[in-house]
Amino acid sequence: MADDRADVIRQVKEANDIVDVVGSYLSLRPAGRTFKGLCPFHEDTRPSLDVDPQRQRYRCWSCNKFGDVITFVQEHDRVSFKEALELLARRAGISLEKIGSSQPNSGRAFMLDTLRWAAEQFQKCLLDSPLAEAARRYLGERKLAGDTLRRFGVGFAPPAGDWLVRLAQNQRIGLESLEKVGLIAKRQEGEGYYDRFRDRVIFPIRDVRGQPLGFGGRILPGSPQIARGAPKYYNSAETEVFSKSELLYGLDQARAASDKTGYLAVVEGYTDVLMAHQFGIGQVVATMGTALNARHVQRLRRFAERIVLVFDADAGGDTGVDRALQIFASQEVDLRIATLPEGKDPCDLLVDSGAAPFQQALTDALDALEFKLQQAVSRSVDGGIEGRRRAVDEVLGVIALAPEMPGQSGAIKHQLIVSRIAQRLALKEGVLWARLEELRRAAGNRKLAGEAAHVAQVASAARSAGARDANGGGNSPDEPRQAPAPPVERDLLQVLLAEPELVPHAKAELAPDQISHPGLRRMLEGMYDLHAAGKCADLDNLRPLLDNPRLTELALRWQEIGRMNDNRSAWLARVLEEFRKRRVRPIVRELHNRLQAATDHDKAVELLRRLQNPTEVLDGED
Ligand SMILES: [Zn+2]
Repeated sequence: MADDRADVIRQVKEANDIVDVVGSYLSLRPAGRTFKGLCPFHEDTRPSLDVDPQRQRYRCWSCNKFGDVITFVQEHDRVSFKEALELLARRAGISLEKIGSSQPNSGRAFMLDTLRWAAEQFQKCLLDSPLAEAARRYLGERKLAGDTLRRFGVGFAPPAGDWLVRLAQNQRIGLESLEKVGLIAKRQEGEGYYDRFRDRVIFPIRDVRGQPLGFGGRILPGSPQIARGAPKYYNSAETEVFSKSELLYGLDQARAASDKTGYLAVVEGYTDVLMAHQFGIGQVVATMGTALNARHVQRLRRFAERIVLVFDADAGGDTGVDRALQIFASQEVDLRIATLPEGKDPCDLLVDSGAAPFQQALTDALDALEFKLQQAVSRSVDGGIEGRRRAVDEVLGVIALAPEMPGQSGAIKHQLIVSRIAQRLALKEGVLWARLEELRRAAGNRKLAGEAAHVAQVASAARSAGARDANGGGNSPDEPRQAPAPPVERDLLQVLLAEPELVPHAKAELAPDQISHPGLRRMLEGMYDLHAAGKCADLDNLRPLLDNPRLTELALRWQEIGRMNDNRSAWLARVLEEFRKRRVRPIVRELHNRLQAATDHDKAVELLRRLQNPTEVLDGED
């Protein structure tokens, strides 16, 4: 029965090639026999993630993450082992019943299912339902083609107020799950639920692989809801899976085009993205009503080296440009700013004048520093010396506020920035460095005050966590990092993980309580349990029992190391011998003490004899 389960795990792994799966999350390029990409687990600026198709493993040379296709999904999507398995099984079209989902109503994978179901309902409604007549007319007037709407999964939520609730009831979809993903809410008075999106065009917000995580809704013009104070745009609430400040609208559709152009352009609205794609400019995404931030940049950088931020000519304003310059100064990114003519937004510009002017604006984009310099200089045309001084402060003031980039690349970037400003404003570099230092110190004083408050907060949080530990809450076997495992224990697990057939040999001689390290003890217990139940004690069967990404990562790594040793039975024999010595050591010490204290000759001889063969004592004890 449970060996079926191991079969399923094997089947899921075989059906999900690691290069395909990792490549669906980030851009991978072939490099010899492996593939390289930017690691999603740390702030990577040069491709440190190595994906090996032959061994079906990934490894980051910088942050040391390591694992297989299942751990990748676990870590990346922050889901349990089982959920990762479900996601991958679904991806490969393997029946989920085989995996035996015991809790179908919980977890992230289930939320994702619910979101996908809802996205389909909204879209079906827009495409087919008589209820969406007005919505179709509105989108037609906005010149959005049916093909574009389909590609982005655009939908419609009718005005009724319980349309989605009733649909879910008819199709036996749990209302709690719809509530959990922020699509419906409990009525304050009376019974039941109501739809949170009403009379709105629905834009599903999807991750890079096209999975909907949340929704944005635009109210239909002329909707009676407007008179009741409904906002023009409305997003799903933040949930476990939906975080507005991190997501980029349209990235799933834009990533392919960015491979060709080498950059991704960032606009502000859903319809701007839709229209750009409709006009064949595919490398366009949008932030979700928030300014571009460092996390967005990290995400975008996984697909393109250059980012072009698109501002309307009048909008964007100083804060937008300053923020962009700070990101430019503090991140290893080529960040440029494009401005559109005549104060139009991208959608209007494209509809009125076709693709050419928008494309031109993207091509003409200036890097953030150049843009700011031009802005500052043009403001002080009449200025002479005082004007130049003000321009310098305006630019340096922004850079002084940017977090400093660590390492050599940070120093180089700042050198380049300062020498460019010196050149453009005809000033000595030394003067600029001194002024930057002054401004930094002024900004630093403000920041230090903030940091002190933060440190105090962290300390108090740590104290309360410590109190929890004392109550027995913490320090569970989930925390295998407390102390490094003794080498002999590590060796034991390396052998057994590499060759599960040896588990019975170890089991015959070694009890789990002889393993001092809690994480390793848990692995060994798991293997023994599997063997006792008549199952193969291999890592695939063990993983669901561990369900701890850090332990699993360790186990995978050790399995690899173990496999490098050809004569594993001999190795195990040595390891078991080592354990035997470890058990005997306190007995020997005791015998020695007694021998030293012995006054009786016969007794001393007997003690000596036992010392020469201390394991005899051990055998007699059991
Ligand atoms: Zn990494």
